[in-house]
Order: sequence, then C-alpha cells, then structure tokens
Amino acid sequence: MTLFDDKCGRCGKPAQIVGGANPRCWACARLDSQERRADVLAGKVKWGPWHYRPDNLTLVHDDGYDVDLERCRTSAEVLDWIAQVSGKDVVYDEKDVGHLVRALDEMLGLQARLCGGGQDHTIDIPALLRPSKQAPAED
Ligand SMILES: [Zn+2]
Repeated sequence: MTLFDDKCGRCGKPAQIVGGANPRCWACARLDSQERRADVLAGKVKWGPWHYRPDNLTLVHDDGYDVDLERCRTSAEVLDWIAQVSGKDVVYDEKDVGHLVRALDEMLGLQARLCGGGQDHTIDIPALLRPSKQAPAED
C-alpha cells in the first residue's frame, strides 16, 4: 500500500489521513471534528459513565454525581476535581477516573488551553462551551 491510495470515506476524494478505520481527506477530517465538537457541546457524547449537561455546564456520572465545569478554569481546579473523584475510591474505580480525564480533556482541551508546557492558563468556561461559537484561543 502506498500513501494516498485510500479514498476518503466521506467524499471519495484521495485521503490524506490513512491507516485507520476511517480514511479522510483534510476537508472531511475538519468536518468530522466540527461535528464531533457540536455533538460534545450538545451533550450527545458519552465517556464511559460520564456525559455533559449543557444546561448547567456539568459532567455527570451515571450515578448522578456531577463535576461543575465552571469550576474547572485552571489546572489546579481541574486537578482538584480529578483528585476528588479519584479519592472516592469506594465509589469510583480507575475506569471512572480515566473516563473523567478523557471527558475533561475533550471538553476543555487541557494541553491546548490549560496546562501546555507546564504553564497554567485560565479558561473562560461559558465562552468555551457555548455551542454556536468556535472555541476561543487560550488566554
Ligand atoms: Zn473527503
């Protein structure tokens, strides 16, 4: 197999992103990403037992426990939530914690906006999670 042999699974044009289950051209990869973000912000995505509630900006576990994303503005605040859930080890196992980290990463873009290179930034959570707007750049 040579590079660019695969066709985009969405439009049929030559795919630049190959090797995975869903070969894509750059344009369709961008559409996939935008659609995924729209689904995330609409609360249609699940990360293990966690899902996002757009009406109150929380990540909610199937058991009802919720993480308030408006209190995830800094690295320390995000880490505090992770440690909080991890510390409830009678209730939540490693998978619960791992899925929460994945959810926080996808919702907030941890390295891109919060902690990249070990530098702490502050996120405007309501602006970031507003469905109609593009995600703002880091501060
Ligand atoms: Zn395509």
